[in-house]
Amino acid sequence: MQTSASVFSISPVLVWFRNDLRLHDHEALTAALQDNARALLVYCIDPRQFVTITPGVPKTGAFRARFLLESLVDLRASCRSLGGDLVVRVGEPEQVLPALAATVRASRVYFHLDAAPEEGAVERAVRQALKARGVGVRLFSTHTLVHGDDLPFDVAALPDTFSQYRSRVERRVDVRAPHPAPTALPACLIDPGELPSILSLGLTDPLPDPRELFRFRGGETAGRERLRYWMWDADRLRTYKTTRNGLLLTDDSSKLSPWLAHGCLSPRLVYAEVRRYEQERVRNADTDWLVFELLWRDYFRLVLEKWGGRLFAPGGLNGLPYPWRRLDDSGVRDDFDKWTAGQTGFPLVDAAMRELAATGYTSNRARQNVASFLTRVLGIDWRLGASWFESLLVDYDVSSNWGNWAYVSGVGNDARGFRFFNVLKQAREYDPNGDFARHWLPARAEHHASPMVDLFSAADASALTYERAVAKLAPVRATPTRR
Ligand code: FAD
Repeated sequence: MQTSASVFSISPVLVWFRNDLRLHDHEALTAALQDNARALLVYCIDPRQFVTITPGVPKTGAFRARFLLESLVDLRASCRSLGGDLVVRVGEPEQVLPALAATVRASRVYFHLDAAPEEGAVERAVRQALKARGVGVRLFSTHTLVHGDDLPFDVAALPDTFSQYRSRVERRVDVRAPHPAPTALPACLIDPGELPSILSLGLTDPLPDPRELFRFRGGETAGRERLRYWMWDADRLRTYKTTRNGLLLTDDSSKLSPWLAHGCLSPRLVYAEVRRYEQERVRNADTDWLVFELLWRDYFRLVLEKWGGRLFAPGGLNGLPYPWRRLDDSGVRDDFDKWTAGQTGFPLVDAAMRELAATGYTSNRARQNVASFLTRVLGIDWRLGASWFESLLVDYDVSSNWGNWAYVSGVGNDARGFRFFNVLKQAREYDPNGDFARHWLPARAEHHASPMVDLFSAADASALTYERAVAKLAPVRATPTRR
């Protein structure tokens, strides 16, 4: 394999892949191929994504690491089938990209922008390092349903509530059609590099769990298959709004989130399929609702873009002075560990936390309940829960995770402020026969071995008892004291 720059008759463009691990609807790649036949596709595995974070867990846990590596294998295979390759390097992008640009004498690097603070800092470091070597950049927007350039307002003027935001974009914006995937790629004239193993990232492959009902497999190919299966073969879009709150059954919701989060699927491709479905099958409130959820996803990205690091403060966007219990406060580690281990004694919470630990996924309804339980019942700092999710979730995405956590904890962009999910009422409504709890929890006797359960053995499904139990459990329960 030649590695000398002399093999490049035209100065190549590097396309830096980030959370956009696909060939379809890839604006940066499309532009690079249009501008310059010699595009070189690169992905950097950044060791900073694998450090340990508070509360003592890997920033990227095994479920997401496995999904990422599978996505890279798939992307590389797709590139190879088109005559190209995906160059993979382990290292910080601000080191890897300038070095690679120098090796191949690249004139420019194309990539997609990311609103999150850490990702933004990496971007700035990359741009500086490239500038020092005289290498230019071109930036694109790809993560959202509504293209960044089509927003009818400046991000600084983002409406404070989702409803206001939605009505403004729905009235004024057409969603762009996805760019087609390329049909051929230029040959890769340097060593593409080996993909690291999960072990070399300091993690081990998650053990298969016999209770797991659906295994998320990384990559654009698997993402497209899931989309086709769920929407067309199983025909589940027509009932989506009614079933999406289901806790147990795989097809109750789309399960597209890991592919959207890693960019294996473009939201605009999902949207185009929804519109096609509406023409060929049915248009109803359920088909609209999937678009509604994709707009929520966009909204959280814009919230992060507007508010930046403030989203990660204990009091959230508005600096509310909640008296959160911190990890080093007395008794908090114990309560937090029971929450993470699914040993609180509340079957809905425990089943969801065990599902999360065993699979890297739990449903939206379950996430809302466990988040509310941690912050409203145990009074624990919401950021510990968000970090726990960051480590475990296979579909982790900075803005959706931190935005939803802040929202449920009452410190986000929420007009109503104080939210509270009564987990017993919720269990009655969403798990009336206890199927979800039975699926994830061991026999009742064993489950009841937890000391926190003793505290709640008297709890029944009435709201009053629940309130009393909550009061007993959380003497320092966070109450909203607005300034
Ligand atoms: P579906 O119901 O089929 O929804 C379709 C798509 O719409 C999802 O794949 C997702 O991309 C988007 N979507 C749906 N609901 C939301 C929402 N509330 N906010 C933003 N986007 C949404 N979602 C993530 O993708 N990554 C996260 O890190 C994440 N963390 C969360 C943390 C908490 C505390 C809560 C309450 C929610 C979180 N969500 C997150 C949102 C939501 O729970 C998941 O997107 C959803 O459960 C994924 O399953 P699905 O693909 O079957 O969803």
